[in-house]
Amino acid sequence: MKKTVLLVTVFSVLVSIALSFLVATLIPSISVKVSLIMSVIVPLIIAPLVSFPFVNLLFQLNALEVEMRALATYDALTKLLNRRAFLERADFAYNIAKREKQPFCILAVDLDFFKSINDQYGHATGDEVLAQFGLITNQISRESDICGRTGGEEFSFFLANTTIDEAENFTNRLHTAIRSASVNYKGLPIHFTVSIGLAAFTGYNISQLDALLQFADAALYEAKKSGRNQTVKSVGL
Ligand code: GH3
Ligand code: MG
Ligand code: MG
Repeated sequence: MKKTVLLVTVFSVLVSIALSFLVATLIPSISVKVSLIMSVIVPLIIAPLVSFPFVNLLFQLNALEVEMRALATYDALTKLLNRRAFLERADFAYNIAKREKQPFCILAVDLDFFKSINDQYGHATGDEVLAQFGLITNQISRESDICGRTGGEEFSFFLANTTIDEAENFTNRLHTAIRSASVNYKGLPIHFTVSIGLAAFTGYNISQLDALLQFADAALYEAKKSGRNQTVKSVGL
């Protein structure tokens, strides 16, 4: 950016000097005063003309960069973080929690009987359910919560600076909001539920985030096994 502005300025000044010189040479009757005035007017005309396409291009590039960054970070359907962005941010938050000795929780969330939603009402309705889930999650979560779509109908949340009770409160609100939500299929409301594995951490003996996610997965497995549409807690290390 700075380089471009500098280039445009230098270019304008050079053109200005050249034109002023040319005019003064071609028309000897023109005084130094007029020549000076011209060397101010000329860059005033030249600089905007030259810099406009440059600046315009820079704005376009900036907008593209913002769009590309969003595409590389968020899942288009649910508007939650994609798997890579989730793991990156969760790992960062985990390291802070470890350093600051803060409690945190990890949730493994999976939509219940999602295959049969697809089979009964079609893939498009399944997609709407996923989008609805993302919307509810974004409404309920806090700024500091890291929520990502880590699989097709699987999600992982990293709740920074959160105790097990606070996390349970969060999952209760999530279950309640989801139970009362629905998507429309040929005028009929289609309801859905989720199962959640909640793993809470207060000590930090595990050095890999992967191992922590597995605690939450194990709790999710229990939630599925014992009837779905519920949260099962597990206290990690
Ligand atoms: P469970 O309660 O045990 O989790 O059963 P389930 O049917 O939800 O689980 P299963 O793993 O058998 O099926 C998951 C389905 O999710 C299968 C796959 O086609 C569907 N799916 C994955 N990604 C998408 C997506 O982006 N859109 C739609 N509509 N379906 C998806
Ligand atoms: Mg499922
Ligand atoms: Mg699944």
